[in-house]
Amino acid sequence: MRSFTFHPGPRLIAGAGKSQTLSDLLPEGPVLFVSDEQLVGLGLTDAARKSLETNGRDVTLFDKVEADPSRTTLEAALEAGRTVSASSVVGFGGGSPMDVAKLAAYLLGSGENLDDVWGVDIAKGARLPLVLVPTTAGTGSEATPISVITCEDGVKLAVNARPLTADWAVLDPELTIGLPRGVTAATGIDAIVHAVEAYTSARLKNPMSDALAREALRLLSDNLLTACTEPQNLGAREAMLLGAHLAGLAFSNAPVAGVHALAYPLGGLHHLPHGVSNALMLRHVLLHNAEAARDHYAELAPILVPDCESEGSQARVAMLIDKLDQLVAESGIATRLRDYGIDASEAPRLAQEAMKQTRLLVNNPCEITEADAQRLYEAAW
Ligand SMILES: [Zn+2]
Repeated sequence: MRSFTFHPGPRLIAGAGKSQTLSDLLPEGPVLFVSDEQLVGLGLTDAARKSLETNGRDVTLFDKVEADPSRTTLEAALEAGRTVSASSVVGFGGGSPMDVAKLAAYLLGSGENLDDVWGVDIAKGARLPLVLVPTTAGTGSEATPISVITCEDGVKLAVNARPLTADWAVLDPELTIGLPRGVTAATGIDAIVHAVEAYTSARLKNPMSDALAREALRLLSDNLLTACTEPQNLGAREAMLLGAHLAGLAFSNAPVAGVHALAYPLGGLHHLPHGVSNALMLRHVLLHNAEAARDHYAELAPILVPDCESEGSQARVAMLIDKLDQLVAESGIATRLRDYGIDASEAPRLAQEAMKQTRLLVNNPCEITEADAQRLYEAAW
């Protein structure tokens, strides 16, 4: 076995209604509860906040987190935490509230300045106790030590450091029951891409991340369509949340690559949801990688295509890619760039932007040049 390093994620509690037991996980004292207005408006945070209050906690709600949270938002959350001398932080929602909660807990606890901690493994201080509660089955942000904040001129900066790993992640499938089908589909495909890209990650793939990625892929691919067509199916919702969490653990050790690198410009320039962007590029990047990652894709194929074991590796790879394609289509996501009003003439610009994602491109099983990227966008059109 080659030597490797594996970082575990937060401690985990999973089960229906478990988001109403947060007080068991937090110290005494005021709680900064970070969420967004939509979730609060839907009443999704009510039971969790009420149970905290019933158990003697003063809860300060900060619900101003937007998609792609800004530095201004993070600073407002910090101010809210300082005002009440928060002794712990809860992040409740999709990736954005959780990202703000992670960094708020770190900066409130360590007293450090944001500008001193950008980057990988720079932050080394102590944060406030932190619990993360995801309400979508996708980003896996509750499992990762990464927080992405949008700064001046739309520039996205990230803090990626072990102290941002939460104390606890709480997976409560009841919170995902009401998700619209489009969100279930897009976030589910995102999580599937996390598992596939972690499994083929060129630099830091290891036996632990492999085991997590395989089980994530099994849970997610077995349950995505059920979660889409039977939104009340608690078993499918539970499996999706766990799958997304395991994929998050996998990719926080073995980082994602080409699909994400080519997906980001679609979000940045055309504001497509992250999961949709990934779904659009998945087939094309996997075809590009098919030769370089042949053995790894062939190992994953039986998880989605159980009767492919007798086939040769090339046939298995083709079957895997077709099956993933079919999952995307059956989940209801439109699969062509043109379906989102993107013109074929934009391929060069998109390719240029994708080349900036060097931190992701280095993890791809083979090189993606600017000319490759342009060809892949044209193929996706
Ligand atoms: Zn993703």
